[in-house]
Formats: sequence, C-alpha cells, structure tokens
Amino acid sequence: MLQFQEAEHIALLRQTLERFIERDMPREAAREWDRMNHFPRAVHDKLAALGMMGLTIDEEYGGTGRDITATVTVIEQLCARSVSVGGAYIQSACYAGLNLSELASDAQKAALLPRVAAEGLILAYGISEPDVGADVASVRTTATRTEDTLVVNGNKRFCSGAAICDYIYTLVRTGPTDQRHKNLTLLLIPPNAPGVTLLPQETMGLRGVGTYDVHFNNVEISANQIVGGLSGFNAGWPMLAGPGLDIEKLEISAMALGIARAAVEDAWAYSQERFQFGKPICSIQSIRHMLADVKTRLEACRLMTYRAA
Ligand SMILES: Cc1cc2nc3c(=O)[nH]c(=O)nc-3n(C[C@H](O)[C@H](O)[C@H](O)COP(=O)(O)OP(=O)(O)OC[C@H]3O[C@@H](n4cnc5c(N)ncnc54)[C@H](O)[C@@H]3O)c2cc1C
Repeated sequence: MLQFQEAEHIALLRQTLERFIERDMPREAAREWDRMNHFPRAVHDKLAALGMMGLTIDEEYGGTGRDITATVTVIEQLCARSVSVGGAYIQSACYAGLNLSELASDAQKAALLPRVAAEGLILAYGISEPDVGADVASVRTTATRTEDTLVVNGNKRFCSGAAICDYIYTLVRTGPTDQRHKNLTLLLIPPNAPGVTLLPQETMGLRGVGTYDVHFNNVEISANQIVGGLSGFNAGWPMLAGPGLDIEKLEISAMALGIARAAVEDAWAYSQERFQFGKPICSIQSIRHMLADVKTRLEACRLMTYRAA
C-alpha cells in the first residue's frame, strides 16, 4: 500500500536540515552565491561533517549505509535554498558515493569512499562532448594505453563542477570506433593534471558549481585511475548504464522539486502580503487559480519523486 506519511527518520532528517539551512545558508548568502556563481566550500564541508555524504556509502567505508530516500530528501531541502550547495552535494554523495560504491575496484573504494563520507570528495561527469549529447557511445575523446599509463586527448562539454571537483569521471574511447559499445573506458582525471584546461560556460541556472568546457591535451594518468581497476579497461559501457546513472534522473527530479517548492512558497507568501485595490492579491480569483494549479503540480512532482526513490 502507498504510504503518504514520511518515515520518522526522514522527518527528523528534514528538521535537522531545516536548522542547518537557516543557520549556515541564509537567504541573502544563497542569493549572493547564485549572483556571483560562487561555491561555498565551507558549507559543503559542514554537510560532510554532519554525515550527509555518508547516506550513499556502506558503513565499512565510513558511511551510514545506502538510503536513497534520505539522499533525495537532502537534495530537495538543499536545492530549495541553493542549487550551488545542492548541486555539489549530488556530485559528492551520488556521483562519487554511488558510482564508486558500485563500480570502483577494492583499492579505489578503500582510498576514495572514506574521503567522500568524511570530506565530501566531489566527482564531475565528463561524458558529453561538443558533438556528443544523448548518443554518448559516440565519444571522440581518446585514451591510448601503454603498460601502466594512459594518455588522454579530446574535449568535453557541459562538465558541471569541473573546477571544484577532485576528479573528472571521464568517458573515453580506448579502441577502434567500429565497436561502439565495447571500446569505452571510464577514467578518474584530476582537473589540475598537466594538460587539462577548463573554460567556463555561462549558464542561467545551476550556478555556483559552474559548467565548463574541458580540454585534454596529452594528459597522462596512471592505469590505476581506470574506474574498476585494470578490469575496467574497455568495460565502460555497462558501467555507464548502471544503477549510479539510473539514479541521476531521480537526483535531478529532487533538485527540480526543491527549486519548485521554494518558488511556490515565495509566490504564496507574496500573494498574501501584496495589496492591490485594497485587498491582498491572493483574494483575486484568477491568482487563486494559478496558486492552486502550481501547488497541485508540486504535490504530483513530490509524490512521483518519492515513489521512485
Ligand atoms: C546545465 C547543464 C549541465 C550539464 N552537466 C553535464 C555534466 O556535468 N556532464 C555531462 O557529461 N553532461 C552534462 N550536460 C549535458 C547533458 O547531459 C546533455 O545536454 C544531454 O545529454 C543532451 O545532449 P545535447 O544537449 O547535446 O542534445 P542532443 O543529444 O543533441 O539532443 C537534441 C534534441 O534531440 C532529442 N533527441 C536526441 N536523441 C533522441 C532520440 N534518440 N530520440 C528522441 N529524441 C532525441 C533530445 O531530447 C533533444 O531535444 C549538462 C547540460 C546542461 C544543459
């Protein structure tokens, strides 16, 4: 049977976040981060210290065990105030926490997952390219492998969080193009590696974390940076289509829900305080229709998102 009431631990988590947001993410500060395209690292660090990044990570690596509903709750709450903080949270708890838990080698898990849980380590997705969008198996960025190293060349587009991340989770072609789905590999490339250049793209939304064009010019990385270890070489396609990216749709829905909720709450409050013709505008029938309509859509969005979680 469908449950419309939140579980007790989720309600408590929401209250904790409400207090955190009022104290550490005041409205004026969030407005400034958005205007300046700024990422408040100190707030991100405090969220990690509160244990929020550990919601996707097993206890043996310092997390509290995977809880997708709790993760979605955090995304909704944070994005209702600041997409800069909420976007970086997704890139840490989900991009890093979920993908590395599912796909990394044991050595990579031991080295990186405790850092996600404790420090909020961030991954950026380097998948799209100037001529590659929905059809990701057509990537042209290449990596040529010698014994222990790979040399990466190519261009990525729309790489969100490239300048604040610890690694760019990069999809590269590692063999002949006629085997479209076979010769793909995922790599962890530090954004400050020699030969990596970041060029900011101006965006209307998703500010703070920033979105970048990334150029790789003979970037040399160790074979240890192949996601999944050496067995991950040429095994990128099933990794890409795995559960980590599945949940990405849910992350974006939770982000949209948070943003929409904040907009509806603000519109609702404004309609009660704004007076015209001697009465609040919320008493005008056409305005009431609009408010009722957006609140209905918001509720539908909430039910769908949490049902999927
Ligand atoms: C703000 C922002 C942040 C982003 N962040 C990242 C990121 O961090 N990392 C990353 O790798 N990418 C990122 N992206 C890229 C995003 O994943 C791509 O925009 C997306 O994959 C679509 O690619 P495209 O824009 O090239 O559109 P295209 O793939 O060129 O599609 C154009 C249109 O055709 C439609 N279409 C395409 N193929 C089909 C099909 N088979 N059937 C029906 N319709 C189809 C699409 O729906 C779309 O309407 C970001 C994009 C934006 C806007």
